[in-house]
Formats: sequence, structure tokens, C-alpha cells
Amino acid sequence: MDCPFCKIVIENTERIIRETERTFTVLSKPRLMPGHLLVIPKKHVERFSELSKEERNELFDEIALLEQKILIGLAPGCDISQHYRPFIPNSRFKVSHLHIHVRPRSLDDDLYQKVQIFERDVFQEPNQEEFEKFKKLFGN
Ligand SMILES: [Zn+2]
Repeated sequence: MDCPFCKIVIENTERIIRETERTFTVLSKPRLMPGHLLVIPKKHVERFSELSKEERNELFDEIALLEQKILIGLAPGCDISQHYRPFIPNSRFKVSHLHIHVRPRSLDDDLYQKVQIFERDVFQEPNQEEFEKFKKLFGN
């Protein structure tokens, strides 16, 4: 398999800065800001739904712990995100093995100042049609 994250697990490289039974954490390379982490299940899956409940719990426990460490010692904010985008080819910027980004955030970081400051222009109020459509799709 030609998966860079599986390769990290097999080679047990120095890139691993934290490890649990089912997860490992590395500094993102490339990164968006210093301290940008990737929390990765050792099992090669592409989506959360492919993990067992125990595997997801361990993954989320790690994420919560790292968020706490960031907020205590590194930055006033923290972003946690995961992206499933099979429509984008694999590259240096996109790996299909599930990974969760944990990013220290502050108002003066480059990501906010150069990119996310423009998100305000994208936000819109959802209309009634959308509400009904998505309630039907996601509701119980
Ligand atoms: Zn993999």
C-alpha cells in the first residue's frame, strides 16, 4: 500500500510525537501554523464510520487531550476538523487515510488573516426549503 500514514506506523518514525494503542499523532507536514497536529488512527480507514466505537472513542479522547494541551500552553483557540474529499486526488496536501487536524488558533494567525477573514462573505441565512430538506435527510 502506498499510504504515507500507514508508512509512518510501520516505520515508527520520529515524526510520531504521541501514541496510544490505536492512534498516533504527528506534526502536520506541511503545516498551516506551528503546532498543527494530525491525530491518526493506526488502522487504515477513510471515514469515521469505518472505525469501531472503541476506536472512535480512543481517537476522540486523544483529540480532547490535545485540545486541552493547546489551550493551556500554546494558543487561546483550537480548531478540530476532518475532511472526507474523495473527489480530490491524493497529493502532498491530501491523504485518504483518516486524520483529524488539531490546530492552535489565534486572531493574528496567518490562516485567519489571509483566508478565513473572508469566510464572513460566504455565510448566508438558510431558507425554509433548506430547513425542510435537511431535516428530512438528517432528522430522526
Ligand atoms: Zn493508511
